[in-house]
Order: sequence, then structure tokens, then C-alpha cells
Amino acid sequence: RLHNVIQDLKGNIRVFCRIRPPISSSELELLQCSISFVDHNGLEIRKTRESISQITGKPQEFKGEFTFDRVFPPESTQEEVFEDLAQLVQSALDGYNVCVFAYGQTGSGKTFTMQGGEELDQRGMVPRTIDLIFEAIKKFNNCGWNYTIQASFLEIYNENIRDLLNINNTQKLEIYHNEGKGSTVTNLTIQPIESAVELKQYMSLAHRNRATAATNFNEHSSRSHAVTKIYIEGTLEDQNIILKGTINLVDLAGSESAKVTINDERLTETKNINKSLATLGDVISALFCKSKHIPYRNSKLTYLLQSCLGGNSKTLMVVNIAPFEECFNESINSLRFAAKVK
Ligand code: ADP
Ligand code: MG
Repeated sequence: RLHNVIQDLKGNIRVFCRIRPPISSSELELLQCSISFVDHNGLEIRKTRESISQITGKPQEFKGEFTFDRVFPPESTQEEVFEDLAQLVQSALDGYNVCVFAYGQTGSGKTFTMQGGEELDQRGMVPRTIDLIFEAIKKFNNCGWNYTIQASFLEIYNENIRDLLNINNTQKLEIYHNEGKGSTVTNLTIQPIESAVELKQYMSLAHRNRATAATNFNEHSSRSHAVTKIYIEGTLEDQNIILKGTINLVDLAGSESAKVTINDERLTETKNINKSLATLGDVISALFCKSKHIPYRNSKLTYLLQSCLGGNSKTLMVVNIAPFEECFNESINSLRFAAKVK
């Protein structure tokens, strides 16, 4: 019973906050924001509801409280961050649609959270998800379940979709929404996958393609959304049961507000980024409030993910924060975004 209550409280939308550590001696010299965490008192819930009660940096100062389902302080490991996501991977195997977003300003740790570092224990959410899926389906195979796995990799740059497995594709990639069947993207490569190793090879290929197509990769990646989608279909042969789930892992464009804008092209890009991030926030908060109208169509990203946001789907938003005083205003903006979402 208590278990059910906790499940309900967790709901289908979870918002985490992760504060990254300083990573170099020069960063250690930067003035750090002081951020304090508070555990909410209460039964089991204590473990899952946490808040940041204070974030202060000089010369600006802010005192207030933001509540999250979980807060990950700088020393948190990738394994800890993956803990809750592991349950969502299980949901996808059970036929749910799952969306995981990394939100935050450029340099706050979104790509580290999603892709991770080179070391084994630094693997991020995407490779961990891949490993867990293939471990799980091996077990289920023994109980008569057959799974087929497919994957697609795309990016949305300036409201245009690019297939990261077929970068020279000149055909139009258009989102097409089909009531009941979900959204599809015309001409997008959907790659059948046999093993975790193979899926990771395609992941690397997508990453290389994304990098080679850009003149300035860092700048480009901070101004586009990268979407890794894994399609899972499970069939129980003798009982005619088919479960179809998906996992969408999204490394969002940087949330920083525009500095003095250099040219018109940049201005359009910035407007598109702001609009799609704002729409994502609007969609998630409309879902959370159970609104009648959900503004999916206001951006490519939300239109693409329409069938995976809302309904029976599960969403996890990781808001990434850099701990420096110079990032103070952006950190507050990110925390406000998170507060608005839920
Ligand atoms: P973003 O994708 O938001 O622009 P990155 O993920 O590239 O930010 O992070 C910026 C830098 O900080 C990278 O060098 C990354 O490896 C490092 N980094 C981020 N988060 C962590 C972390 N939790 N532990 C160690 N290094 C991190
Ligand atoms: Mg990044």
C-alpha cells in the first residue's frame, strides 16, 4: 500500500537537479556559488523529495527554495543518477514511451550526463540504458519473450531535422503525426540493432557525423537538440502479446539567454532555441496540470515527441547546473524553468 502511494507521488513526470563539480584547477579558482540542499522530512518520501534551499553567489544573491524529486550534488556518480532511469528502462520494456531530457546552459554537464566520459564508471545515461536493455531482454528471452530493437539518431538545428545516420540525405525529413500510431519522421533511418555493442557503434557514428557536418562542433552542439531514440518491441510468441515501447534520450540545446547578438542568422537560431525550450516547458507543465490543450505543435521538438510525452508515457528532466558565480543568473533561470515544469 505504502509502495503504491509512493509510486503515485513520483508520478509520470520527474524532475532532477544535478550540480556538476569543477573539473580543472582553473575552474577551482573560479568563485563558486554556495548551494545548500535540504532533505524533506517524512517517511520513505524523504529519499525522493529534495530541495535546493539556497543558492548564493556574490555580488548577486538569491535565497529561496526549489523542490526536485532528487538533487544530485557535485560528488554524485553516474551510477547514482542512472538509478531512477533504470526503472524507466524497465517501463519501456513493458511498452511505455519514455523521454529523458538534459536541460541547462552550455557547460553545465548535459552531454556528460547523457553520454558521459571515457572511463567505464563515467558512462552516461545513453550507454547505461543500452546495456540495461540488452541485459534485460536476454533474461526475458528465457521466459518466451522475443525482443526486436531499433534505433534512430537525429538532431534538430534551427527547427530543421537532420538524420545523424545519413548525413548526406537530401530528402526532406518531415514529422508526420498519426493519431494512435505516434509520430514518424519521413526518410529517417531506423536501424535494426542486434546487440549493445552494435548500438554503441551506431551511437558513435551518429556522434562523428554530427561533428563532421559542423564547422564549429562545440558551438553547433550547444545550439541543437540531439535525440537518440530506441524502439523496443517485445512479443510473447504463444500468447499473441505485443508490447511496443520507446526511449527518447535528448541532449537539449544550451538554455543560456542570448548575449549581444552578432548577426541575423544567430538571432533566428537563438529565437528558435528559446522557443523550443519554452514550448517544452509549457508542454510538460500543461501535462502535469492535466490541461486540455497541450501546445505540442509550437516546436519541432515537442511535435516530434508528442506521442512520447503525456498519456501513459514517462518523463524525466535532468536540470544541470554549473556551480560558478559567473553562471549564477543562468542557474537561477534553469531552476525557475524546473519550478515551472512541475
Ligand atoms: P554541456 O553539454 O551542458 O555543454 P558538458 O557535459 O560538455 O556540458 O560538460 C562540460 C565539461 O564538464 C565537460 O568537460 C564535462 O566532461 C565536464 N563534466 C560535466 N559534468 C561532470 C561531472 N558530473 N563529473 C565530471 N566532469 C563533468
Ligand atoms: Mg553538450
